[in-house]
Amino acid sequence: MFSEELAKYDWDETTRRILSKRPADVEAALGRERPTLDDFMALVSPAAAAYLEPMARLSRRYTQERFGKTISMYVPMYITNSCSNSCVYCGFNRHNKFERVILTPQQIEDECRAIRRLAPFENLLLVTGENPRDAGVDYIEKALQVCRPYFNNLTIEVMPLASEEYYRLTQSGLNGVVCFQETYNRANYNIYHPAGMKSRFEWRVNGFDRMGQAGVHKIGMGVLIGLEEWRTDVTMMALHLQYLRKHYWKTRYSVNFPRMRPSEGHFQPNVVMSDRELAQLTFAFRIFDRDVDISVSTRECASFRNNIATLGATSMSAGSKTDPGGYYTYPQSLEQFSVSDERTPAQVEADIRKAGYEVVWKDWDKIFD
Ligand code: SF4
Repeated sequence: MFSEELAKYDWDETTRRILSKRPADVEAALGRERPTLDDFMALVSPAAAAYLEPMARLSRRYTQERFGKTISMYVPMYITNSCSNSCVYCGFNRHNKFERVILTPQQIEDECRAIRRLAPFENLLLVTGENPRDAGVDYIEKALQVCRPYFNNLTIEVMPLASEEYYRLTQSGLNGVVCFQETYNRANYNIYHPAGMKSRFEWRVNGFDRMGQAGVHKIGMGVLIGLEEWRTDVTMMALHLQYLRKHYWKTRYSVNFPRMRPSEGHFQPNVVMSDRELAQLTFAFRIFDRDVDISVSTRECASFRNNIATLGATSMSAGSKTDPGGYYTYPQSLEQFSVSDERTPAQVEADIRKAGYEVVWKDWDKIFD
């Protein structure tokens, strides 16, 4: 399990190693055909900030060689905001008083229809809070069955499950699973996740092994930028990705690095990442792993997304609503976070095409399941 691998890396020592990187280390990393984890540390280090241009060129080249000039589109559908956890940075935190919604199968179907009217999305990301009692595996399975006729590719972002449960869902049309570790800092993890199932660090971090064991076709990973030293967190995520590729080599992988945005919880980020640093991180990941899908959500603003679409990103959401029922005019409930890019899917598509890139709505067919 990955937790055993992670235990070999000391957080503070890793931070020191990253901060001690010099220009010569960055140049060596840029020249390496197969960059190592140590090279990755150089690429995310402060020393690499002066190399943004060559990093961008390399990232663009590797991305075009592997993915062509394409951006794959997906749309999130929040089906419940009910949650038994108390993540201090999240508006769905169980201590926040507001009316919780668990969409019924009929309401989920209404959302499917509303999304299909919005744009020709085929990649759907079903998102829930974590409430195993009232919206557990049976509920998620039912939601997948409802959505299946409307979309060719179904991904879930829900509580970590047991391996058998992931397997069971693959039999109901599940293609991918996204899970955010949020932070790999074991010592501080419970400051942000003090109670509920999410407070169990090992259960969460080893969830990716369980997805791999269940044969999930695509696994999405992410850390939340704003909690801990981001350079160390993303290095641990790169280590995790390397580990998963070795053990579950049939699976495809994606990464995402959302920057924390304002929420009902009024949590102030401990760490602020600039646009230049987010670009540096995107380039570093692309140079480190040429096959990984790099996803950029509507948390980021339109101009940043337009630029990064030609420099390393490979998938994007558009027109996102982060409140359950949000596509079908249900009374707006609380959003998990506010989106920054409020363009319609058609506007996002037009901007991507203007940059000379193809928009891919469908890259998977149900028939492959
Ligand atoms: S981040 Fe997820 S698990 Fe945590 S409170 Fe929000 S919805 Fe619940």
